[in-house]
Amino acid sequence: MMIIMKTTASEEEIAAVTKRVESVGARAHISRGEELTVIGAIGDREHVARLGLEGAPGVDQVVPILKPYKLASSQLRGGERTVIEIDGRKIGGQHFSLIAGPCTVESRDQTLDTARVVKEAGGSLFRGGAYKPRSSPYSFQGLGQEGLRLLAEAKAETGLPIVTELMDVRDLEPVLEVADVVQIGARNMQNYTLLSEVGRSGCPVLLKRGLSSTLEELLMAAEYVLKEGNEAVMLCERGIRTFETAYRFTLDLTAIPVLKELSHLPVIVDPSHAAGRRDFVTSLSLAAAAAGADGIIVEIHPDPDAAICDGPQALPNSGFAQYVELVERAAAVAGKELSSV
Ligand code: PEP
Ligand code: MN
Repeated sequence: MMIIMKTTASEEEIAAVTKRVESVGARAHISRGEELTVIGAIGDREHVARLGLEGAPGVDQVVPILKPYKLASSQLRGGERTVIEIDGRKIGGQHFSLIAGPCTVESRDQTLDTARVVKEAGGSLFRGGAYKPRSSPYSFQGLGQEGLRLLAEAKAETGLPIVTELMDVRDLEPVLEVADVVQIGARNMQNYTLLSEVGRSGCPVLLKRGLSSTLEELLMAAEYVLKEGNEAVMLCERGIRTFETAYRFTLDLTAIPVLKELSHLPVIVDPSHAAGRRDFVTSLSLAAAAAGADGIIVEIHPDPDAAICDGPQALPNSGFAQYVELVERAAAVAGKELSSV
């Protein structure tokens, strides 16, 4: 249930409603918007309904949240967008974020060179995998702890916040030491233990849509993180499996407006994994930015042909500044401004 407080509601009234919600074993999730405070009562609907909160001091309305995902639902925020702030960079709302970097951390030079390019071009965050989910167990699996160390060095030098993937709860602690945003990869979207753990960690999460997942399944996965009290979740469309075989995955551009209708969470698009080929990456990026995405996560590399992982889809570092200019213009079409420091 969603308890919408009056604009005039006092802190005491909000606290009193919260206490009553909790008295029936439900969780009260307080969402403070610019004008309204909404208390999401997460638990047995019947129990909450029996409290008869309509008419309680400070309460305007009590309405059911009809979707199976509650905290991720746009209903909870009455149409307001979530804006996540990471070291001064804003993600969501009127802001556009450019997250860029290599698929995987390969070496010190490759990582630092790329981080410098991202910083120089006005990128918002730096991405790089230390733990990689690879289709083949014989492929390079990432540098692990050494990769995390190199990411920390890139951050120390450029000041760029780090986005890196967590695949296994056993690596949570070392990943959290470096990550400003934990990426949950497409293959782990429904790894519910992992989602709950990153939820409890409180670290912002970039949640990638599973290869064959519906948007509702993506939002239910986000709910696992939100339920632990972690409100900093970004949804990421990265291409899905369809009958089409002419390219790697089908980038679901329609997911952008639909997710924004269904949820208040920021929507990020990954054109690299969808395209699978670098010559498609710019056009997909422009389309996503113009369609209102809150940001892009793109793979770049100093020498894509020599990349250990995902080279064919990586843009060369040398073309990144020009790419940023183009994407910035497309984002402006959707009324958004690039967020960097
Ligand atoms: C990646 O970001 O490098 C990656 C493996 O992404 P996904 O989980 O979307 O395949
Ligand atoms: Mn990759």
